[in-house]
Amino acid sequence: MKARSTRLAHMGRPASGWANTPIVKGSTYLFESLEQWRGARKQRETQRVLSYGARGNETVYALEDAITELEGGYRTKLFPTGLAAIASTLLACLKAGDHVLISEGVYEPVRRLCATQLVHYGIEYSFFSPHDADWQRHLRPSTRMVYVESPGSLLYDMLDLPAIAQICHERGILLCADNTWGSGLAYRPLALGCDISVVAATKYLGGHSDVMMGSVTTTRACFDAIENVSINLGQTVAAEDAFLVLRGLRTLDLRLRRHAQSALDVAGWLAGQAAISAVFHPALPGDRNHALWRRDASGSNGLLTIEFNPEFSQATVEAAIGELQLFGIGSSWGGFESLVLPVDPASTRFAGQATPPGYLLRLHIGLEEPADLKEDLGRMLAVLPGLSQQQAIA
Ligand SMILES: *Cc1c(COP(=O)(O)O)cnc(C)c1O
Repeated sequence: MKARSTRLAHMGRPASGWANTPIVKGSTYLFESLEQWRGARKQRETQRVLSYGARGNETVYALEDAITELEGGYRTKLFPTGLAAIASTLLACLKAGDHVLISEGVYEPVRRLCATQLVHYGIEYSFFSPHDADWQRHLRPSTRMVYVESPGSLLYDMLDLPAIAQICHERGILLCADNTWGSGLAYRPLALGCDISVVAATKYLGGHSDVMMGSVTTTRACFDAIENVSINLGQTVAAEDAFLVLRGLRTLDLRLRRHAQSALDVAGWLAGQAAISAVFHPALPGDRNHALWRRDASGSNGLLTIEFNPEFSQATVEAAIGELQLFGIGSSWGGFESLVLPVDPASTRFAGQATPPGYLLRLHIGLEEPADLKEDLGRMLAVLPGLSQQQAIA
């Protein structure tokens, strides 16, 4: 089997002709006869066949196939956003009376989805800490799914997926992972024992901050439920968007390597700054997730979170953030550009859990020159009180 970096150049391409899959637009697909139309409608219950725009077309199929290969699954369905992919997966697999156990640190809208939507359908949910060695005690007789994000959002806590998968499988519980951090390349939940892997393709797969999409890749046993929910809820993606993500995939390995290398460089530098009391980045030696990251991940990415010394007030830190010139302020990550965003884990992703006391800032390290990014961050650190310009840019 060739390396995935090699296969990225070939996945989801036509067998001959155009080097990259062209954009196919269409709602109505015409048949030669009623017999052929009837045949296609029967066939599409069990296999992929062109029949109607909402069911996909050549461009969409090509991206589905590429992501399936990347994630190492049976098949993939695409959704208009990452959150749509998550919501559809939960609706596909859970019914009234079921319980879903969720790891702390998941993408915050998942909490909102559970609290303001799933509860109306009689679906119960609760959370467990990624550091809880005795996490199984949170399983209930009604637990149908364990939903994890590894590494989690903001603090990048990693879970021992093979160990969790073993317990889930013994009890007939589905294990679903949000794999946006790993994006099919740096981390592979299906290979680690998960049944379902969801990726916000909006992030690194697209990679250029210009497209929204989500993917769900599953084992053979789980696929029908996902296909069914996409049909029933009318979830489909535009061919232009599938094309953009497919185009992004060609450079995924190259981009991720650069993001990861620059982020590690910046993370190591920040860890040595007096104003910063902690740096969260699993590839950084000393991070509490480093051993699991070494064991289970094959790469990293551009995300890191810094904790400012707790003696700095929010106003002081935010005035310093105002000095940044290269880092943009905005949601999402995974594009070519560097971003910062304040995070408040206590009120969002870690509700009720102990969280670091200092001001937390999430950085996405883009494709810019790391020396320029460090200089920019040095400008921010230099205006903090009690830290001389000399120290800040040393
Ligand atoms: C961004 C993100 C999502 C949601 O993706 P959208 O395309 O913005 O809906 C889901 N999970 C994680 C971990 C994310 O970072």
